[in-house]
Amino acid sequence: MISKNIIKYSPWILHFNTGACNGCDIEFLAAITPVYDPERFGIRLAPNPRHADILVVTGALNKKSSERLKRLYDLMPSPKYVIACGACAISGGVFAGSYSLRLKASDVVPVDLTIPGCPPRPEAILLGIKTLLERIGGGNGRARK
Ligand code: SF4
Repeated sequence: MISKNIIKYSPWILHFNTGACNGCDIEFLAAITPVYDPERFGIRLAPNPRHADILVVTGALNKKSSERLKRLYDLMPSPKYVIACGACAISGGVFAGSYSLRLKASDVVPVDLTIPGCPPRPEAILLGIKTLLERIGGGNGRARK
């Protein structure tokens, strides 16, 4: 099993955008550019789910996208963590109550951390990932696994 300490210092992140307005998607992509330089924290994008430690979910979930989210999560090796990024992933956001969107990320996979906002700024996204890393390493906050 992969050591949690390795994840703490070198987390590989998989981004899954379910759709919605793409605002959170764009902010996440901005957060991983050299402008915000996430590699200073060891954060890198994973090329596929089998290499991923942290799954970042943006957007609202319908039946099809929730099936894909579950499949991606199942493909990731343990220990694995999930961040729900933005109001849509957390609660459905402005799409809550829509006939086709009945799920939030935590209905499908265990969510370890939420990053509120519509959309959250890149700084907030990086702060959220850093917070999760501190929890993984037994620093501040709670650890799920
Ligand atoms: S939370 Fe807001 S910005 Fe993000 S996908 Fe939903 S509507 Fe768009």
